Amino acid sequence: MNTVLVPFSEVLGADHATAAIMRGSWYEIDLDAIRHNYRQLRSHLPRHVKIYACLKRNAYGCGAGPVASALAKEGVDGFAVASLLDAIAIRQEGVSHPLLLYPGALPSAAPTIESLDLTVSVSTIDELVQWRTAMTRPRVFIKVDLGFFRAGTTPMEANKILATARGLADVDVEGIYAHMSELPTAQPSDAHEQLDRMRTILRDAGVLGLRPAVVMMSSTEGVLNHPDMDFDAVDPGALFFGLSESDNPTRPVTLRPALKSISASLVSVKRLDASLGPVPAIFGINSGTTMGVIGMGWGDGFPRQVPSDAVGLIRGKRARLLPPAHLEHIRIDLTDVPEARFGDQVVLLGRQGDQSITHEEVATSWGTDIVGLYAQLRDHVPRIYTAKQTRKGNPQ
Ligand SMILES: *Cc1c(COP(=O)(O)O)cnc(C)c1O
Repeated sequence: MNTVLVPFSEVLGADHATAAIMRGSWYEIDLDAIRHNYRQLRSHLPRHVKIYACLKRNAYGCGAGPVASALAKEGVDGFAVASLLDAIAIRQEGVSHPLLLYPGALPSAAPTIESLDLTVSVSTIDELVQWRTAMTRPRVFIKVDLGFFRAGTTPMEANKILATARGLADVDVEGIYAHMSELPTAQPSDAHEQLDRMRTILRDAGVLGLRPAVVMMSSTEGVLNHPDMDFDAVDPGALFFGLSESDNPTRPVTLRPALKSISASLVSVKRLDASLGPVPAIFGINSGTTMGVIGMGWGDGFPRQVPSDAVGLIRGKRARLLPPAHLEHIRIDLTDVPEARFGDQVVLLGRQGDQSITHEEVATSWGTDIVGLYAQLRDHVPRIYTAKQTRKGNPQ
């Protein structure tokens, strides 16, 4: 297996990348799993349906640039992100596919948006006017709110905005899209009501001769369970990282998790003695115990309150993490691992020897679900990409 270091090698140069890894903490991202998940989706979708991979939040913590590059080679049709930083990371990889910005960027960023050849989202006439003022020839997707009560025009206004935009010679209307409601109150019937709202908009648009080339409304939940929402394109995100909330999806894809491990190192090991004074009761350990310090903390995505049953794997054994977490450090009880040494690797998610810590365990100890766990991955922590297929031009 090759280990490919990106994007640190590109940003910092190979020596610095190595140094970053030497710090001893990293996330291991399995690009093969992401490719596999893409292929699964592609094989279950009709050929004419385009895939815009949603890589928001730095590709759910997995690195927008490298993930986009891998998916581009697989034949993905386009991308969507909310943050301009993610769009920049994708373009810096030399990926020139269509790239849609969800609501997030503002017209003050127009020069960057133009230079990166991005498509913006428009939900109101005011937004349309502002983008048109700021840009020479804006490319837009009209965003519709079908009942999520978030960004997007109301269904009633959709065709007015579409007609206005289509009437402007210097505006390219590339498509219309919506994000299905995922509010906790959503009932299965809500999905059909939302689909009906989209169909009504499209029927009226058709009568007026306004139907845009791309209609898109399925994210992970939609694409897995509602094939009748395929239209021309889909924009799932979570799916590529192996994240799905459907146990028995209509489209029986098998997904693999993109996050393979979270690793840190022991940056300190010591035997406690009476000269430190009494051991604080919160640690649940005694004087005479060996205690380690891991080089990761709540500044690296951990919760400040590590639950008392959270563990790390060291020398193939499970060892208890000792709350609370600190900005860059967490304590670990090494009483049962006397062979532990300064610099040892501690696995906080993933496998070590015959032990493993699952995504579910970590999500629970971080007080979130698995999507939340990915969202908590921090951009400053080095990511190591493992893949059988290596990326051209990177150090091994
Ligand atoms: C987040 C998002 C998606 C992707 O959602 P997943 O559940 O991750 O598939 C698609 N479209 C829009 C507009 C989004 O905000």
